[in-house]
Amino acid sequence: MKPLRRAAILAVGSELLTPSRLDTNSLHITEQLNLLGIDVVFKSVIGDDREELARAIRGALDRADLVVCSGGLGPTDDDVTRDVVAAVLGRPLAEDERITARIRARFEARGLRMPDINRRQAMVPAGAVVLHNPNGTAPGLWLEEGDRVIVLLPGPPRELKGILAALVEGELRARASGLAIVRRTVRVAGRTESHTEEAVRPLYNERAQAAVPVTATILASLGQIELHLSARAASREQAEAAVDLASRQVEEALGLDAFSRDGRTLEEVVGALLVERGLRIAVAESCTGGLLTSRLTDVAGSSRYVDCGVVAYANEEKTALLGVPAALIEAHGAVSEPVAVAMAEGVRARAGTDVGVGVTGIAGPGGGTPLKPVGTVAVAAAMPQQTRSRLFRFVGDRQLVKFQASQAALDLVRRMLLQ
Ligand code: ATP
Repeated sequence: MKPLRRAAILAVGSELLTPSRLDTNSLHITEQLNLLGIDVVFKSVIGDDREELARAIRGALDRADLVVCSGGLGPTDDDVTRDVVAAVLGRPLAEDERITARIRARFEARGLRMPDINRRQAMVPAGAVVLHNPNGTAPGLWLEEGDRVIVLLPGPPRELKGILAALVEGELRARASGLAIVRRTVRVAGRTESHTEEAVRPLYNERAQAAVPVTATILASLGQIELHLSARAASREQAEAAVDLASRQVEEALGLDAFSRDGRTLEEVVGALLVERGLRIAVAESCTGGLLTSRLTDVAGSSRYVDCGVVAYANEEKTALLGVPAALIEAHGAVSEPVAVAMAEGVRARAGTDVGVGVTGIAGPGGGTPLKPVGTVAVAAAMPQQTRSRLFRFVGDRQLVKFQASQAALDLVRRMLLQ
């Protein structure tokens, strides 16, 4: 039997084509298949439309060894996956009485009569293996067509995960190529995409030639750069070792700019540093309107190091709540490094914490001047030994400027804590 190497995922459901529902099942399926060394070569989202689905299934069977369908196994007329797959493969459907009995028992356990339409969920294409669904009524189905495998899974994520977990331990593992894929993400702050690329490009080239090759892609996302490293090897240990080496080299090349290689966010990294050093932080925000404090407190256990957050939006409140001298605001403007410094030192002194941080900026779209355009943001971090500040000029809309401002403030604190 040919090993399964290339997979296609078809997420079925008209709701997935609307703005209100996102296909997350395919992400989970991809993660699980990758652990077995199976690459997902493409995926599609298809509405509850027999013609479209039939076309997608035929296309997927042409291009992949393994086709995983999610959704459309329910009891109603718009749940078409089972019927369409049977039609495409030319297999008749027959009711499996054991499935009907199990579904009936599930209803009766809740004191309900099984509606007749649920019999649809017991229809099985000839030659299919029924995959037990411990979390719902619709079982999954495993079909083979020559060397290719088609797996049908119910749409509700909890049900899909349960069935897939059993397959990953059993049939899929047995049929996979035996190659393991390991991925790692290195997150970077304080560098542009091209500066990151410049620093790590020679490493990519070297790692791509290694015995266990590592491929790298660079992704610019909101306020940070991500480097995605991935290796494929005969064993998970080998793939992990290759990715480990590559990520260590990348981190060396990027120095302090690389802040995480284990999936942690910047607020988690800052939180961990504060815990490690036994320090507490107080926040003074203007343009971020509480976002910085919100991000810090998104981390479970942040009460160990977050003392308070003050949103001082109006200039008078910067003076009243944080002790920023009105004359300083008058002299430099509210968006300036001296004011950010006074905010950071002010909140630190008033809260009596080890670390104080201040952010002030122009989020836009109005309020910019030629000297201080929209996106100008000053951040400062104060500790007993020193205070540091920086002025940034971010681009993007209001939300983006606010996020980048919070990111810059967290990053400044991180760098101070590391030195
Ligand atoms: P059911 O027996 O519950 O009807 P089903 O296999 O017919 O199962 P769907 O009706 O397509 O599944 O989807 C049921 C629910 O599962 C959807 O409302 C949605 O919440 C969720 N769901 C379906 N597909 C996906 C997907 N690709 N990603 C995330 N959630 C999904």
